[in-house]
Amino acid sequence: MPEYDYDLFVIGAGSGGTRAARVSASYGAKVAVAEEYRVGGTCVIRGCVPKKMLVYGSHFSEDLEDGKNFGWTWENAKFDWIKLRDHILKDVDRLNNAYTETLKNHDVEIILERAEIAGPHEIKLASGKTVTAKYILIAVGAWPDVPEFPGSEHMLTSNEMFHLDKLPETIIISGGGYIANEFAGIFNGLGSEVFVVNRSSVILRGYDESLRDRLLQIALTKGINYKFNCTFDKIEKREDGALDVYMDGKPAMRADVVLAATGRRPKIDGLGLENAGVETNDKGAIKVNEYSQTNVDNIYAVGDVTDRVQLTPVAIREGQAFAETVFNNTPKTVDYSCIPSAVFSQPPIASVGMTEGEARMKYGNIKVYSSDFRAMRNAFADRPERSLYKMIVEQTTEKILGLHMIGPDAPEILQAAAVAVKAGLTKQAFDDTIALHPSMAEELVLLK
Ligand code: NDP
Repeated sequence: MPEYDYDLFVIGAGSGGTRAARVSASYGAKVAVAEEYRVGGTCVIRGCVPKKMLVYGSHFSEDLEDGKNFGWTWENAKFDWIKLRDHILKDVDRLNNAYTETLKNHDVEIILERAEIAGPHEIKLASGKTVTAKYILIAVGAWPDVPEFPGSEHMLTSNEMFHLDKLPETIIISGGGYIANEFAGIFNGLGSEVFVVNRSSVILRGYDESLRDRLLQIALTKGINYKFNCTFDKIEKREDGALDVYMDGKPAMRADVVLAATGRRPKIDGLGLENAGVETNDKGAIKVNEYSQTNVDNIYAVGDVTDRVQLTPVAIREGQAFAETVFNNTPKTVDYSCIPSAVFSQPPIASVGMTEGEARMKYGNIKVYSSDFRAMRNAFADRPERSLYKMIVEQTTEKILGLHMIGPDAPEILQAAAVAVKAGLTKQAFDDTIALHPSMAEELVLLK
C-alpha cells in the first residue's frame, strides 16, 4: 500500500496549478487537482482572456469611425452587449473544456470541489472526504480586494463584469491600476460614460511616467473622466437598482455600475493554512523560498497566492519549475528579471525593464532615447493620438535597461523586443538592424 493517496495534490486549477499538475504527472507522479469553480482559473475564466475579447469588441467603435477615411461607410452600425457577452462566455466554455481535457489526457484526477488543508499531508474536501498526499501545492490565486465603506457591498468586481445583464450607461471605476484602465477603455469604447476615481494623483503606479501621462492625455481626449485624490463616502442603492455614489463630501452621482479595481489579495481565507503551520506575510501571501517551497517542507505555493509577480506567465513558470524540482530531480528557480508586462488600455502600454525613474535612482547617469510619433493608420484616419516609445540605456555601455511603449499593438511589438532586452543587448544592436518599413515597430531601430 502506498503511504499516501497521491504523490501531489494541487489546490487550484488556474494557470500555475494546471501547469504544475500536468508536468508533474508527465514525470510519473500520481496527481489530483481540486478546483472549487472552473478549471482554467482567473486568467482563462474571468480575467486576461475574456477581458482581451472585450478590448477587441470595444475597439470596433473607433475602427468603424476610422474606416471612413479608408472609404468605408456603415449604415446603422449597432452594438449588442448580450451578443458579445454570450460569445465570450461560450469561448470561456471552450477553453475550460480544453484545460480539463489536457489535465485528463495527462492522467491528472480533477476534483471539482473546494479543498482545504487539514494537516501537512492531509486535504479535506468539501464533500467531507479527507485524502493524503506526499506533496501539496497551493495555487489558489488572488481575489479582488474591495474597500470597506458604507454601501461598498454594492460595488462589483472584475469577476462580474463578464456577466452584466446590460451595458451600463454610467460606470464609476474605483482604482487607477491595470483593471481600472483596461475596463475604462472597454466601457468607453462600448459607449458607456466612464469615471475613473483613484485615491492618489496617478494612474498605473510603477509604469514609466511619460507613458502614464500619455495614456491619461489620450483617455481624456476619448472622453474618459478621471477624478484623483478622491475617496468614496458611501453608496446607496435606489429601488430601480441605480446607485447613488457619494464622494469627497459632494452630492451623489448616479451610476449603473461601480467597479472596485483596487488590487487583489491572496485567496487564503478558509484554506486551513494554520492546520499545517504554513506561514504568510503581512499581506496575507504565502511565504516561499526560491523553489516555491513554504516553511513546511512538503508544501509548496505558486502564483498570485505568493507575494511575487501577479502575472499569469509568471505563475506558469513557477508551476513548471516546481514540477522540475520536485518530480524531475532538476532543481529549477524562476528568473524574475526583465518580465515584460502590458496594460490593455486603449491604446495599450507595454513595458520591460526599468522605468526612467528607477534607472536614474540606480545608475545616476543614464541616456533616454525616444520616438514620439503618430502611427500611419491614425494619421490617415485623422486621429490625433500619438505613440511614444522610450528606451533607457546605461550611460557608457548603452546597454538597454528598459523599454517602454504606448501605441497601437505595443504589447505585440514589445514581446519580441523584450528578447533583446533580456539578452542584454545594447542600443547599437537596435541601430544595426535595418528598419522594417512601413511599420510602427521600425521606430524601435530609429530611436533618437
Ligand atoms: P493595481 O494594483 O494595478 O491597482 C490598484 C489601484 O487601486 C491603484 O490605483 C491604487 O491606488 C488603488 N488602491 C489600492 N488600494 C486601495 C484602497 N484600499 N482604496 C482605494 N484605492 C486603492 O490593481 P488592479 O485591481 O487593477 O489589478 C490587480 C492585479 O491584477 C494587478 O496588480 C496585476 O498584477 C493583475 N492584472 C494584470 C493585468 C495585465 O497584465 N494586463 C490586467 C489586470 C490585472 P494608488 O494609485 O495609490 O496605487
